[in-house]
Amino acid sequence: MPLSSRAAPALVLFRRDLRLADHPALSAAAETGAPVLPVYILDDETPGRWRMGGASRWWLYQSLRSLGADLEARGSRLVLRHGETKRVLGELIEETGARSVLFTRGYEPYQRALEGRLKPSLEARGVSLRRFGGQILVEPESIANLAGEPFRVFTPFFRALSQRGAPATPLPAPQKLAAPDSWPRSDALASLALEPTRPDWAGGIRAAWRPGETAARERLTAFIEAALPSYRTRRDEPGIDGTSRLSPHLAFGEIGPRQIWHAVQAAAEAAGDHAAADAYLREVGWREFSYHLLFHFPHLPEAPFRPEFTAFPWRDDADALEAWQRGRTGYPIVDAGMRQLWQTGWMHNRVRMIVASFLIKHLLSPWQTGADWFWDTLVDADLANNAASWQWVAGSGADAAPYFRIFNPVLQGEKFDPRGDYVRAFVPELAKLPASLIHKPWTASAAALRDAGVTLGETWPHPIVDHAAARARALTAFAAVKKK
Ligand code: FAD
Repeated sequence: MPLSSRAAPALVLFRRDLRLADHPALSAAAETGAPVLPVYILDDETPGRWRMGGASRWWLYQSLRSLGADLEARGSRLVLRHGETKRVLGELIEETGARSVLFTRGYEPYQRALEGRLKPSLEARGVSLRRFGGQILVEPESIANLAGEPFRVFTPFFRALSQRGAPATPLPAPQKLAAPDSWPRSDALASLALEPTRPDWAGGIRAAWRPGETAARERLTAFIEAALPSYRTRRDEPGIDGTSRLSPHLAFGEIGPRQIWHAVQAAAEAAGDHAAADAYLREVGWREFSYHLLFHFPHLPEAPFRPEFTAFPWRDDADALEAWQRGRTGYPIVDAGMRQLWQTGWMHNRVRMIVASFLIKHLLSPWQTGADWFWDTLVDADLANNAASWQWVAGSGADAAPYFRIFNPVLQGEKFDPRGDYVRAFVPELAKLPASLIHKPWTASAAALRDAGVTLGETWPHPIVDHAAARARALTAFAAVKKK
């Protein structure tokens, strides 16, 4: 028996859109005048192998808490449930008498499959299903190249995206949400077991981040004021706060790309300088491109976009993989990146490219092993961005970096972390080495090592592979692919 027979609620199913502003599904529900029932279902079954990783679960916990508080400030609540989405939704509809379900569409293959299953099952119950955009700037069905096919190259994609002009103006958060006569049971947030307990590995992540919609908005404002003007020239320096760090907020939908687009353009207008805004929005464009690729090529997270890479002679070296994961390869910039990831759940984009290139090309580990590690440890783990970026580095993706371009980790470190600040922040063992040696400690004299308190092979590992030999080996492996 429904809890209320007077007013059937409109159920808003939150997913990766944990915000109130610029949330078309929530705004549409509020406009119906019906009571609004905000729901989040933790569904570990539907994603299959793409079940959320550990760092993402930590973020989700905080984000749900923040969303719940924001809803309560508007006279509403967040109802939490755990289980397979279709089944749990059916139960909630039964309990509450909801006559409509509204949600933001997803682009991951399993989200699309779920949406396909929900439609007939809800319609059979006489419940309407209303699907809205909001997670990306442009729906993938509405943009194509001259042949009517999906873009496979970023530059023309971005040109076409830019030519469409401004995305829709972001919607304000509904001021008030009508509450149902009575609320269905909600699981306690703590019962979802999203936070690590023993061991509690999230200390560094907790110190680095403040999840939630308010924090996302504040971060955008702070970035626009402090770092946007120099973004174009300094975005590649991992030792400074030169990028927005909005990625986890975007991954959980605490802020949407339309809000970012409009805020950044407004700042550009006010400053009379569009160059910085254009450089930044181009990166947001890469996110958009990745989502469109995932939509059109749903195998992207699992299989190489270029099928010839299926024949790549990967190596299976568990020790090397573990050295990479733990930041013990002996290459300081690689190890600093992997430790930044482990400690804070995030890594600077330039260093993501360096560590990914090292895993794939120096160690010949399949890109999927790296993508899996990132999936578990990144707070911004995002199926589209992660898969497209790993394939980009591997050379197997759409519009990818050529395989034969192999980063030299020493030169990359010297170029983008010239003073060694980034390495010092995450690799204290090397902190006392001068900048001229910090990216290649094995070249230091015995005296320089002694002065810095470094003993090679003891306090700091010898490089696990020699760069020149690894490079030659990678090129030979690549030649095998080219022959196919
Ligand atoms: P900013 O420089 O401030 O950029 C703003 C936003 O634009 C980002 O938040 C992000 O949403 C988007 N963006 C920026 N660069 C890229 C890019 N190259 N590709 C796609 N979108 C981009 N990003 C994720 O969000 N999730 C991932 O799981 C992820 N995995 C990656 C794996 C590898 C191997 C590499 C090389 C990159 C990966 N990226 C991923 C892309 C990029 O590194 C991050 O988006 C970026 O570092 C986030 O920091 P930021 O918010 O400060 O970025």
